[in-house]
Amino acid sequence: MKAAVRPRRPAAPALDVAALRREFPILSRKVHGKPLVYLDNAATTQKPRAVLEAVTRFSEEENANVQRAVHLLSQRATDAHEGAREKVRRFVNAREAREIVFTRGTTEAVNLVAQAWGRRHVGPGDEVLITAMEHHSNIVPWQMLRDEKGARLVVAPMDDAGDLVLPELERLLSPRTRIVAVAHVSNALGTVNRVAEIVRLAHARGVPVLVDGAQAAPHLRVDVQALDCDFYAFSGHKVYGPTGIGALYGKAALLEEMPPWQGGGDMILSVTFEKTHYNEVPHKFEAGTPNIAGAVGLGAALDWLGSAGRDAIEAHERDLLAYATDRASAVPGVRIVGTAREKAGVLSFTVEGVHPHDVGTVLDREGIAVRTGHHCAQPVMERLGIPATARASFAAYNTRDEVDALVAGLGRVREIFRR
Ligand code: PMP
Repeated sequence: MKAAVRPRRPAAPALDVAALRREFPILSRKVHGKPLVYLDNAATTQKPRAVLEAVTRFSEEENANVQRAVHLLSQRATDAHEGAREKVRRFVNAREAREIVFTRGTTEAVNLVAQAWGRRHVGPGDEVLITAMEHHSNIVPWQMLRDEKGARLVVAPMDDAGDLVLPELERLLSPRTRIVAVAHVSNALGTVNRVAEIVRLAHARGVPVLVDGAQAAPHLRVDVQALDCDFYAFSGHKVYGPTGIGALYGKAALLEEMPPWQGGGDMILSVTFEKTHYNEVPHKFEAGTPNIAGAVGLGAALDWLGSAGRDAIEAHERDLLAYATDRASAVPGVRIVGTAREKAGVLSFTVEGVHPHDVGTVLDREGIAVRTGHHCAQPVMERLGIPATARASFAAYNTRDEVDALVAGLGRVREIFRR
């Protein structure tokens, strides 16, 4: 009897991309007289009308400061802010809403952990283990801590394809390792790291793990309980939400015992000149007036993602990436950078004999937005022996036609630079 092939999950319903595109006003604009082909989603995604309207509606109807003053608007604003926190909790499947700290984004979330957790737990000679494919925002905060504490930064290697070398990572987990900080998905290469496995290895030695989810949250289902990670950071503006808002998930027990990292209003219960009693988690980490409208926008973005269908989006983006990889690799002179076993959202490439910035400039004249450079991951470029790449990165609203436009643009690049 023939063995049945079982899909990992039931097939996702197909995404109605044409309808979905109409929800994004900016996608109908032209650039240099050509229809915009926006392929810089790893840097920031565009925002659907639902997000833009939620922010406007909040500002027009409910704006006030949070923390429940007696007046109605303050209560509404507090409800909206805490409601957004609950939406983030659901999005990452945290146990409790108090495990969600609002931050400005991933960068601030990593800095929070490096400073509040790191200052207490990392001492001279201790080690912070990161990987060769981290974004600068998951490198520099740890270097700052290292320099302050006389600690060491240890880097787990990746191979030429852009896959982490897990046995090496395991070997580098030493009795001095205090924390592992790893990207869920690499922004420069698209590699999806086996985070659950990394967490398992680290936890076997009693080491907590911070996951930089900036590039995973837009593409993959995130389940912090299934991953069992200790911290998880992501940015609102990469998941169809506003800039200036993001979140840090932290296990309640860890957040509880961490000291605050910024002092000010809202993070206290009582203050005298002699002694301050700090507020409860998560407010202890949210000094000052938060980005309330941003949180509302983020909540709307997560609602939007849910109603568009995260599985359908994941399947659509998987198809786009596979299609783009096939088509771009067939263009003479184009080399794909990053061929990891599992990838999400990102196609980095070089064009032989043409600087990536020139590739980006020619594509821009065709209305095609890609990013060029080191993508805030200079060590990745150094490891691969290249100065930069061009990077096309995908979102739910991109289409195969746009990939075709990119490939035609690459043809144009070759025409211009062959002369
Ligand atoms: N980590 C990764 C993997 C990223 O791609 C980015 C954004 N490019 C960041 C962290 C930083 O995110 P933000 O600038 O939103 O803080």
